[in-house]
Amino acid sequence: MIEIPLQQPCYDEAEIASAARVIRAQGGIGGGRVCAEVEAEFRCALQVGHVFLTTSGSHALEISMMALEIGAGDEVILPSFTFSSCANAIVLRGATPVFADVQPRLMTLDPLDVARKVTARTRAIMPVHYSGIACDMEALQKLSEDSGVPLIEDAAQAVFARYRERFLGTIGQLGCLSFHHTKNLGCGEGGALLTNDDTLAAKAEIIREKGTNRSAFLRGQVDKYTWVRVGSSYVLSDVLAAILQQQLAKQSWIKSKRAEHWLFYRHRFDELEKAGLIELPETLPEVTPNYHLFVVFTKNATARDLVISRLRSAGIGATFHYIPLHSSPFGSTLGAPQELPVTDDYAARLIRLPLYPTLSDADRARVADAFVAAVTEYA
Ligand SMILES: *Cc1c(COP(=O)(O)O)cnc(C)c1O
Repeated sequence: MIEIPLQQPCYDEAEIASAARVIRAQGGIGGGRVCAEVEAEFRCALQVGHVFLTTSGSHALEISMMALEIGAGDEVILPSFTFSSCANAIVLRGATPVFADVQPRLMTLDPLDVARKVTARTRAIMPVHYSGIACDMEALQKLSEDSGVPLIEDAAQAVFARYRERFLGTIGQLGCLSFHHTKNLGCGEGGALLTNDDTLAAKAEIIREKGTNRSAFLRGQVDKYTWVRVGSSYVLSDVLAAILQQQLAKQSWIKSKRAEHWLFYRHRFDELEKAGLIELPETLPEVTPNYHLFVVFTKNATARDLVISRLRSAGIGATFHYIPLHSSPFGSTLGAPQELPVTDDYAARLIRLPLYPTLSDADRARVADAFVAAVTEYA
């Protein structure tokens, strides 16, 4: 039985009261006043021009594809080491995902491999800030400027993480956040689309409202609302926005608790790394993580599986992560077989350890002790 889970949301009376207030008010509980308030709070906190709360991070990615008018014959470059949602957003538009390799240990998009894969058909590049650690945004922005191809940042795991002084999700033309209950800030299911581009924002607003100009109508800018382009139903409920509002209010506490645990593991495992038994994530000076995941790599896949099963039998919810999309049952049917050596190698050796704000010091020590013992035995 798992006694220390991999992750745990941190809701308390504040979230309960906030959701109850919306329900008791008996008004509309769709995307209304609370959504608008939370969007304004995020615009201010993240210093970004436009924030659209959405029903999920996956849906924010889908809106991005539509706002950029990506369709059949177009290619989008993304890491293979990511969640299916990234590739689904592309395939749903009839476009082709082109998988690029990642950088060792960081598991973030390798700009050199992206550069090799840019063609005349490339319509977007999708950096995924895995584990809340930024991709090499300087190199990717340079590539984007040189090629004229926009960046859609998948910052689903990276809310309030930074690259230099800027928050992730606000650097590319479009950025996507997730508020799934496993993320740093959660409301069960939810997401956000971020942009500083007014034209893309105008499109996103319509796409999110089933392809209608209802938002302009509610502002009194048009006298009736109607279907003006393709879109879908992506507006977040006010009940969920009310929960998210409370999570946003405690984001700096959430991040600092996570940082504490993350740094504890990092220091505790230093010796194992020096002994060549494991590899730990790199910490680059221009990157400020949000400590979403604690990720570590064993020497080989066999050691990884043994360490995970030892931890799980000790009641610790350690686990691996993505099967790279290019070798997944569906991904492997899309286009030619791909050579992604870093992805294949590192994905097979990756372990995630329990990390959440309410993790107790005693449980954290139990995880660390069990991990050190298992690695020493098997690696
Ligand atoms: C969670 C996640 C998503 C999808 O977010 P949902 O809100 O669950 O739809 C997309 N990309 C990455 C990298 C994620 O971790």
